[in-house]
Amino acid sequence: MILLKKLRDKEAFIPHEEIFELLEKTRNPDRKRVEEIVSKSLEKERLSCEETAFLLNAEDPQLVEMILQAARELKNKIYGNRIVLFAPLYIGNECINNCVYCGFRVDNHEVIRKTLSSEELESEVRALVSKGHKRLIVVFGEHPMYSPKFIADTIEKIYSTKFGHGEIRRVNVNAAPQTVEGYKIIRDVGIGTFQIFQETYHLPTYKKLHPSGPKSSYVWRLYGLDRAMLAGIDDIGIGALFGLYNWKFDVMGLMYHTKHLEERFGVGPHTISFPRLEPAVNTPFTISPSNKLKDQDFEKLVAIIRLSVPYTGMILTAREAPDIRRKTLRLGVSQIDAGSSIGVGSYSARDSQVVRKSQFILGDTRSLDEVIRELASEGYIPSFCTACYRAGRTGQHFMEFAIPGFVKQFCTPNAILTFKEYLVDYASEATREIGERLITTELQKMPSSQRNTVSKMISQIEAGARDVRL
Ligand code: SAM
Ligand code: SF4
Repeated sequence: MILLKKLRDKEAFIPHEEIFELLEKTRNPDRKRVEEIVSKSLEKERLSCEETAFLLNAEDPQLVEMILQAARELKNKIYGNRIVLFAPLYIGNECINNCVYCGFRVDNHEVIRKTLSSEELESEVRALVSKGHKRLIVVFGEHPMYSPKFIADTIEKIYSTKFGHGEIRRVNVNAAPQTVEGYKIIRDVGIGTFQIFQETYHLPTYKKLHPSGPKSSYVWRLYGLDRAMLAGIDDIGIGALFGLYNWKFDVMGLMYHTKHLEERFGVGPHTISFPRLEPAVNTPFTISPSNKLKDQDFEKLVAIIRLSVPYTGMILTAREAPDIRRKTLRLGVSQIDAGSSIGVGSYSARDSQVVRKSQFILGDTRSLDEVIRELASEGYIPSFCTACYRAGRTGQHFMEFAIPGFVKQFCTPNAILTFKEYLVDYASEATREIGERLITTELQKMPSSQRNTVSKMISQIEAGARDVRL
């Protein structure tokens, strides 16, 4: 009895037994049940954990297609055709943890350790701005060098770096969990989202894969974003690394995590990430992991998350190859990175050793311009919008979802305006041509008063104004 209680304390708000039971009792759902759940989601209602379990257990190809189709519909209905673009910026790969799947783990002596100096950081930011980026996520290993003050100074330096017509307007962070005091130091320089991935929510597997270092504490990490909230960072991102444990369990973990944050703070995560494990230098665990997630299941996973928490942003990274990115975009993804390079220092310096400074190997290495051209040619509006964040409107994704007309009134015009800036300042001839056509089509869809307002703002951009937004 005492042993069971001890185990439950360690599991915190991820009740393992309950999750296993739910996954067991929802096996082979019938068509009617899946239809009911899908319709509830299409009515913009959040699903219960049990309902998510039913969807996870839908194996019949017709039911799976129903789920995928509903996710596409929900995305179009609520969020429209915008895709927000960002780039990851790796600041340093020193690490005192030993995550068996990561190229940066302390025992990996094949990796070349590097932390950007202030000058190198500036060169990296200039290189990113010169391509048209406006939004970054800064990434750190876990090391005493990367103190809250160091993270805050890094972010300040990024915001203060201007180049040509551009600058970075939003910096998100993916770093080790901090203390409440540490988060406050980071909060004060004005960050976007603070992301922490739990990797796997399954405690015994977590313990096995994180054998040493601060990250070996499951509970410290699990409550990492609670502490961020307590410090006043109300824009947080959760995630799980798929390929470490049974994927259905980890989707349930994401749902219980969301539920916990909603119950405790009245607001859930701003974003959910669902990276898949990729190969990394000298990291045998990544070669043929026993829980490798198949492409088909990955698509299903994306659709189920979309339907389960319809108001949460979803991030799809360049870990995935272009083909699977194309397919999953339609299922409800709101943000992707593009033109990414994940070797420390690799945006600004040519480096034959880049792989040895990288955490893992990317699946999509196309340039930002190529990705944007493809998005625009498929009818998506590439967006660099940071308007809500800079107007102090947090919980943006929730507003998009909850306030009728918000997307049409603010998000679509702002996406178009930032896209226009991109086309004028950075796009290749071919991308500009496709992009201008897309903007014309989008303007035609607007009521005339809005079309007039946005057209005027577009003319201001053509005349040299920047950062024009509603
Ligand atoms: N060091 C901090 C941490 O672990 O939270 C900061 C972020 S770490 C550099 C970023 C994320 O990369 C991790 O949370 C993990 O999910 C992911 N990651 C690690 N190894 C990976 C691999 N081989 N393939 C794909 N993603 C990986
Ligand atoms: Fe370090 Fe993060 Fe890699 Fe773990 S995942 S070894 S904490 S960089």
